[in-house]
Parts: sequence; structure tokens; C-alpha cells
Amino acid sequence: MSFEKSEQLYKEAKDVILGGVNSPSRSYKGIGGGTPVFMKKGKGPYFWDEDDNQYIDYLAAYGPIITGHAHPHITKAIQEAAEDGVLFGTPTTHENRFAHMLRDAIPSLERVRFVNSGTEAVMTTIRVARAYTGRDKIIKFAGCYHGHSDLVLVAAGSGPSTLGNPDSAGVTESIAKEVITVPFNDIDAFEEALNHWGNEIAGVLVEPIVGNFGIVEPKPGFLKSVNELAHEAGALVIYDEVITAFRFMYGGAQNLLGVEPDLTALGKIIGGGLPIGAYGGKKKIMEEISPLGPAYQAGTMAGNPASVRAGIACLEVLQQTNVYEKLDLLGQQLEKGIKNSADQHGVPVTINRLKGALTVYFDVEHVSNYEHAEESNGDKFAYFFKELLKRGINLAPSKYEAWFLTTEHSEADVNDTIKAVDDVFLNWKY
Ligand code: PLP
Repeated sequence: MSFEKSEQLYKEAKDVILGGVNSPSRSYKGIGGGTPVFMKKGKGPYFWDEDDNQYIDYLAAYGPIITGHAHPHITKAIQEAAEDGVLFGTPTTHENRFAHMLRDAIPSLERVRFVNSGTEAVMTTIRVARAYTGRDKIIKFAGCYHGHSDLVLVAAGSGPSTLGNPDSAGVTESIAKEVITVPFNDIDAFEEALNHWGNEIAGVLVEPIVGNFGIVEPKPGFLKSVNELAHEAGALVIYDEVITAFRFMYGGAQNLLGVEPDLTALGKIIGGGLPIGAYGGKKKIMEEISPLGPAYQAGTMAGNPASVRAGIACLEVLQQTNVYEKLDLLGQQLEKGIKNSADQHGVPVTINRLKGALTVYFDVEHVSNYEHAEESNGDKFAYFFKELLKRGINLAPSKYEAWFLTTEHSEADVNDTIKAVDDVFLNWKY
């Protein structure tokens, strides 16, 4: 496989685009460097790079592309939106329809607002929680990613009762002091944090099923206890469902797990591949937001017809029968194939999977929090990634990311993937 054109394009990119990429996760920094592949075209579960190499795609653009690339129903919706005009700066009927679809699917969204990204959605839920409670601090869980707004780029202090430290240059100490970070799935640490800071906490920010240090499910009862303890302390519970909504079922992780937050942030899948975010929650809480309330949030592009019409079309595809059953079956097939091959060739892997999303960790026995994921072997993952790429399988270039199946992958695609994985494990260099 030649990557000549990608190499040339990367050189050109670095001369004008900072770092050669428009999002750091697209660089191969997390896997010891290399040239990111420049993609030219995608169709269904496949994409092709500028050197005309074909790949089976498990990156799915970090989650949004659940219906595969250039799905005809979504493409048609985008074409129609382009012909009708993509931006008016006025309300449109499409926004009404889409908001109803979201609320029908996720009933806790009594009121919804559209924004342009998951980052914006999460950022605004925090503002709403602060406005509603009159408090400043938030609690979040270690290793969860909530976008790149200042408040969520804060690393843990030295324990549940200590305040955070900036996790990015440019985030101030004073902002970091508004955030407490505790380990996921550790209800005692969460309770300790609340005991210490309870009456200052505006909101608890949770990925109900983690997607950002691999796929990690909450332990039974964990989310219910988080809800109860947070509410006892007078804090709101915010679910970041930017990855999880419509990933595992038609609805949110909150439907799947039977727990209800006060506020929810959405993104990724709900835009059908176009830029979008949304947030919503209980009516009385959402009424804090302008024009009804004193908390401000706005957006020139918010609810734009192109993104909204693509989102509606995407949800229409996901409403079809057996979509999630198919994703689950393919996920089972993939998990089993990778695990059998790894066992056969003596490569120690742990696979966390929920339906059509999974993560393969090297050299750890169990992953239920960030510390475990950190301990997994990044060098082995980097080797695995690069060897699979050469065999036409495209993953996210990080040991912390998930593989995402799409409605367009077939059993044959998964079999081809397992064959490629088997070949990598057969020739394993570690
Ligand atoms: N929240 C979660 C759980 C995410 O995974 C991400 C992005 O990966 C975000 C928020 C930020 O979304 P966006 O990249 O659309 O700003």
C-alpha cells in the first residue's frame, strides 16, 4: 500500500494548517507519529484515500457516521436543503419537527435548543446548571471528554476532596478551581467529593456510558446513586450523550439504563454527519435560558436547515426495524473474532463492547475506569493500528477510542476485518 499522496498532502498541510490537522485527534501523535491518511471519498462502510487505497471504516468520524458514508436518504435531505437555502436566521419548521423527534425519543428533553457542536452543548448545560442553582462548581469523572471549553479541560487534583488543575495551557487556575474530578464507577469517591463540596456544586457532568477511554459501562446502580446523591446535595445531573445518544438504541443511554438526568447534551449522530449539537432538559430548568431567562446562549448557525434536515433524515434511517439488533449482532461477531484470534496467537487483549461499539485494550485484564485504560499498552495498540491500516482497516488513532460499526457494515465486512486482525496477530512482533 502506498501513502505517497497523503505524505505530500500532509507536508503541504503543515505549511498552512497548524499541525496539519484541524483537530489534534486526527494527527497520529497518540500512536507515536506518522502521516495521517487523507481521505477522498466515502460510501457506506468504506472510504478511499488520496492514493486510492480502500478501507473498511471503524472510525465513523469519531461516532457521527452511524449510517455509513453518503447514505442516500441523508444525501437527498442535504441536497434538498441546499436547494431551498441553507441559512435564514429565522425559525423553520424543520427545527420544530426535529425537536419533537428528539423529545419523543428522549422524554427528559422537555425543552430543547440546537447549537453547533457537542462542545457548545455541554458548555451551555453547565451555564444553565449554574444559573438554576446559583452555584459555581461542577463534578466530572476522570478520563471523560466533554469538548474543549475551559471548564472541562481540567484535570483531577490529588483526590476527591481536592480541586482541579488546568489540563490545557490557557485554562486558568481560577477556572480549574471550579471543577472536581473523581474516578468513574467509584461511588465512594463521588460521595466524598459531595461531602466536601456538596453545597457549592451546580452540576455533575456524566458520560452515562463512557466513550472516551474506550467503551466503559457504569457498574449496576452507579448512575442511580449519582442521581440520588447529587439531588440530595442540591446539584443537577447533566448527561453528556454526545457519543451515546442514538448509538446503542433509538434514544439515549438514559433510556437504555433507565435513569433520567436533569439536563442532556447531544451532538455527533444527531447531525447525520453535519455540524450540530443540542441540549435540553426539564422545562423549569431550561427556562433559565434567554429569551425566557437570564442565562444567555445564542448562535448564528444554531438550528441551521442543512444540519437539521440531515439530522432528521439520519434519525429516520435509525427508526427502521432491526437497525440496533443488526449493530449488536455485527458487534458480537467482531468481538468474538478478534478475541478468538488474539487468544489463539497468545496476544493478551480485553475487549469492552456494547452493541455496535467496542474497544480493544492490550495488556490489561479489566477496564472500568480511566486508570485501567491508561494502563493498557499504547505501544501495542500503535503497532496494531498501523498494521491494520496497511491491511485496509481504519480505526481511530488512539488506544482510548472506540471502533464504531455502522448500519452499512455487513457480515462479510466484519469477516474481512477479522481476517486482517488474524493476520496481524499471526505476525505479531511483541
Ligand atoms: N462530549 C463527548 C462525550 C464527546 O465525545 C465529544 C467529542 O468527541 C464532545 C462532547 C465534543 O463534541 P464536539 O467535538 O462536537 O465539539
